[in-house]
Amino acid sequence: MLQQTQVKTVIPYFKKFTKKYKTLVSLSKANETQILKLWEGLGYYRRARNLLASAKILVKGHNSKLPNTLKEIKKLPGVGDYTANALMGFIHNYPTIAIDGNVKRVFARYLNKKETKINFEKLIDSNKKNLFITNRNSDFVEALMEFGALICKPKDPKCSQCCLNKRCRYLKSSNKIKNDKRKKTKVMNYNIFCYVSKKKQIALTKENEIKFLKNFNLPLIKEMENNSVNKNWKFLKNYKNSISNLSLNINLYYQFSNKIPKSYNWYSLKNNKEFIPSFTKRIFNQVSTLF
Ligand code: SF4
Repeated sequence: MLQQTQVKTVIPYFKKFTKKYKTLVSLSKANETQILKLWEGLGYYRRARNLLASAKILVKGHNSKLPNTLKEIKKLPGVGDYTANALMGFIHNYPTIAIDGNVKRVFARYLNKKETKINFEKLIDSNKKNLFITNRNSDFVEALMEFGALICKPKDPKCSQCCLNKRCRYLKSSNKIKNDKRKKTKVMNYNIFCYVSKKKQIALTKENEIKFLKNFNLPLIKEMENNSVNKNWKFLKNYKNSISNLSLNINLYYQFSNKIPKSYNWYSLKNNKEFIPSFTKRIFNQVSTLF
């Protein structure tokens, strides 16, 4: 849940999730719809799907235990280097470092180097003796990430409180190397076409061609081209929606209709039991203003 998401956002989701699924076995018995419903609003839904798939694999093939090698852990869906190392540290107390953005920044600042110029794996491997001096490897993995988040922060690092400040090259240097990693926002323009029924329903389909919204139930979405729109569609609203580093400029259209194409199904605009991601909920909210 914490990948790409702040702790304060995650906490209520985590509590709800772990209350419902207390063990790996209970999680493995869940279905995707149940998991996505609990994840609703948190975004990056592939994480939820991968978590469920991993739980099933662990229960079925690993006696509900996490494998104890990086190689085996990385076979789980959605688990790359970062997650595998974090898990090896947290669960197996393995001496390792999970290299996330925070950790990269700490090393880069300490050495006053560009992150892109550092081979982190090599750096860690050749400094093993200095880095792994405790038996509390699990705490060390967590502490290093927290250190980046709370002390060597992206902006205004707390150098006066930092235990590395006597040796930190960034602090001492008159030529401080910046590692500005803000992702550029990409603006995209879409027309969204909603079939709406007088019963306060909206028709959704999984058949849309928008890559970052694959596998979701949505109205028809098309990239805005010259913006000539069939006159059956009435303009409802223009609004902006951000997803990750995408800024979506959306023109929302609707038409009342009882007939919908085959691949569509009706969904209630309110009290939905199905999983509805935030992007779709915003469409629901706009369309609800018609009633
Ligand atoms: S002294 Fe400042 S810049 Fe250097 S590691 Fe500590 S917090 Fe980061």
